[in-house]
This record gives sequence, structure tokens and C-alpha cells, in this order.
Amino acid sequence: MTALAVSDLTKTYAGGQIALHGINLTVDAGAFFGLLGPNGAGKSTLIGIISTLVNKSGGTVRVFGHDLDRDPWAVKSSIGLVPQEFNFNTFETVEQIVVNQAGYYGIPRRLARQRAEHYLHSLGLWERRDTVSRTLSGGMKRRLMIARALMHEPQLLVLDEPTAGVDIELRRSMWDFLRHINDQGTTIILTTHYLEEAESLCKDIAIIDDGRIIENTDVKSLLQRL
Ligand code: ADP
Ligand code: ADP
Repeated sequence: MTALAVSDLTKTYAGGQIALHGINLTVDAGAFFGLLGPNGAGKSTLIGIISTLVNKSGGTVRVFGHDLDRDPWAVKSSIGLVPQEFNFNTFETVEQIVVNQAGYYGIPRRLARQRAEHYLHSLGLWERRDTVSRTLSGGMKRRLMIARALMHEPQLLVLDEPTAGVDIELRRSMWDFLRHINDQGTTIILTTHYLEEAESLCKDIAIIDDGRIIENTDVKSLLQRL
């Protein structure tokens, strides 16, 4: 089964900036897929389009068979997005943030509370459930964004630079958590600057540069060529 199928995807921003020149990309269900590339390459634009937050200019996107143009809500609810920037209400508590996110997807409150407890526990945030998010450390905010993205139990988890600026210890524990989620069947796509992160986590990768895919291979054969 195919988790993501992107063909001839283009994006030109309102100012005329061409961010994507015609991307073709397939990610299998169950994959742990890495999207690498320098700043400004188009990584955030690509995952923004997939997560229905950015409008594409042309091409097609299918997520688990759902066409983005025909059924954007099916695409949206198949995906959990962990954005690069913290974007939650800083005056809400940790528990409110994840429970409210579930409400956004129509998940009953009782079930939302159960899932909140489960995911906050597994990300080491349960003790902090009543803390207002503004006072959390950077690492805790990152983990909160992951918990929030998992509340509707998406088939595909998309993370934009999840460990940027995170210390090595937390980075390793986040890697373990993501591996665990992937082992349980969730497809993962992440963008990263760190080749080490891609090497450690991902089986397949694509390198994007200036809005074009310049490599799409498995990590092992890429490393052999470096
Ligand atoms: P990356 O995530 O790889 O750093 P982005 O997708 O953020 O790359 O950016 C790709 C290109 O699109 C860059 O040239 C960037 O300046 C441009 N861009 C990104 N967002 C916008 C926007 N909202 N308006 C105009 N140009 C943008
Ligand atoms: P806003 O309230 O800013 O208009 P939305 O209604 O699009 O934003 O989304 C509500 C909340 O859900 C926001 O916190 C947003 O970051 C988050 N969100 C939006 N789309 C997704 C997604 N596909 N996966 C996970 N969270 C999402």
C-alpha cells in the first residue's frame, strides 16, 4: 500500500517565488522516510501541502489513496503534523492542548482523555499535564507537539525538523519513541538537516534542492557513495 503519492507537484508563492518545480515522490505504507535538503530547498512547502496547510499550484497528491483535491478532509485526518514552530495556545495546559486537538477531529471527550493520558505518559509529559504550555522547556514543547499530532491516531506522522536545537539526550529518546510508533505501523516522514538522524532512523530518503528531488534512494547506498 502507498502512504503518499505525489506527482508533478508545483508551488509558486504569491510573490512569484517558485518553491517546487515538479516533485514526484512515493512513500510506502509503514516507511520511515527522510526528506533532506538545505535551507530554502522546499521541504516545509512540500510537507505543508501534504498536510493541507499550504495550497499547491499544480500536480496531484494522494495520501493513503485519498486525493487532496477531491477529499482534503480525508487527507487531513490521515495525517498528524508536527510543525517546526510551536503553534499552540500558550495559555492552555498540556492536557487541554491535546484534548482540544482531539475535539477538532470529532473524537469524543472520554476517549480523548484516555488517549491524552496514554500519549502524555509515553512522551514523559503526564506529570506536567496541568502546566500551562508557555512555561514548558523547549524539549517539552517538542514532545507536546508530537503528542498533539498523535491524538487522532493518524496513519501518517509528518515531522518538520523535529530535533532541531534539541540536546543529544532528548534527541535519542525522541528517536526511540519515533521508532516505536513506526514499529506499531505508523508511517513516518521527517525532514532533517542531520545526516546522522536520517542514517539512524530512515530506510529511504529523498534529497530536495532548489525545489527539485535530486536523490531518491535508500540510506545505505547513499552512505556508500559519500
Ligand atoms: P525549506 O523548508 O527546505 O527550508 P521552504 O519550503 O521553507 O524550504 O522554502 C522554499 C522556498 O520558498 C524558499 O525560497 C522560501 O524563501 C520560499 N518560501 C517559503 N515560504 C514562503 C512564503 N510564505 N512566501 C513566499 N516564499 C516562500
Ligand atoms: P487555525 O485554528 O489556526 O485556523 P486549523 O483550524 O487549521 O488552524 O487547525 C487547528 C489546530 O490543529 C492547529 O493547532 C493546527 O496546528 C492543528 N492542525 C491543523 N492541521 C493539522 C494536521 N493535519 N495534523 C495535526 N494538527 C493539525
